[in-house]
Amino acid sequence: MLNCKDLVAQSSDFLDGQLSLRQRLAVRAHLAMCVHCRRFIRQLRLSQAVLRHLPEEQVPELDALAERLAEARRNAR
Ligand SMILES: [Zn+2]
Repeated sequence: MLNCKDLVAQSSDFLDGQLSLRQRLAVRAHLAMCVHCRRFIRQLRLSQAVLRHLPEEQVPELDALAERLAEARRNAR
């Protein structure tokens, strides 16, 4: 059974569709029972989608924005 560290290690391959069927099933099984990794994958997918739609010169600003968002989320808790 996959643990959270394994999942993080495979997450970008998972989103890029690079995993074998067996690996993909293991990831899905883990996601089904782990809310933390579900959240992680969702945010990763979101940031990949955002990055794909931005020209590269805007990425530093995106990093700053992501930091501000992360900070706002911490403060909201
Ligand atoms: Zn997990």
